[in-house]
Amino acid sequence: MSNPDRGRPFSDVWEYMIKGQQQSRGHYTATCTYCNCTWKYGKPCVLRQHLANHCKNCPQDVALYFARIVGKKMKEDEDDENDSNSDSEVPKKKQKYTFIMCNIPFSTIENLWFVDLMKTLQPGYDLPSKQTLSGTYLKAVLSHVNIRIVNELNNESNLTIVLDGWSDSHRNSLWAFMLLTGSRKEYL
Ligand SMILES: [Zn+2]
Repeated sequence: MSNPDRGRPFSDVWEYMIKGQQQSRGHYTATCTYCNCTWKYGKPCVLRQHLANHCKNCPQDVALYFARIVGKKMKEDEDDENDSNSDSEVPKKKQKYTFIMCNIPFSTIENLWFVDLMKTLQPGYDLPSKQTLSGTYLKAVLSHVNIRIVNELNNESNLTIVLDGWSDSHRNSLWAFMLLTGSRKEYL
């Protein structure tokens, strides 16, 4: 799966993508070999997240392989932040998880009242955009949670699937499935 001669870490995502025309220096169009999804600028980090979290046709071992890489990269970034923690920096982990765990709409981060509050508390802190929060950060957290779930389910033997169904205001059916383990521990 990996090519030791290539030199650049994590670039083997191209083994699962069709590389098209060069669009700019170092960027090529990309097409997923499993689902034909295309990108004008095939950035490896975006392509890895696609295979890890979103591709509906890629085999589970490929998804898991890239979920591990995305999760590992996130952990390295967090470790770097912990090493260089200055007063003006808020660790990205806190930024990601606070909005997700508190069910706060991502648009709040650009609300002027919220920006003003943050600037009053920590003048040197620059808030991420809602696109960063709902894109890069959310996908990284999703990979992290997916990999933990798969790792822990591999060691479980007694599992129960439960489901709940309801209708939205347009009478569309909505179904939620949950897998219960013996520990009843929640993953986000
Ligand atoms: Zn795909």
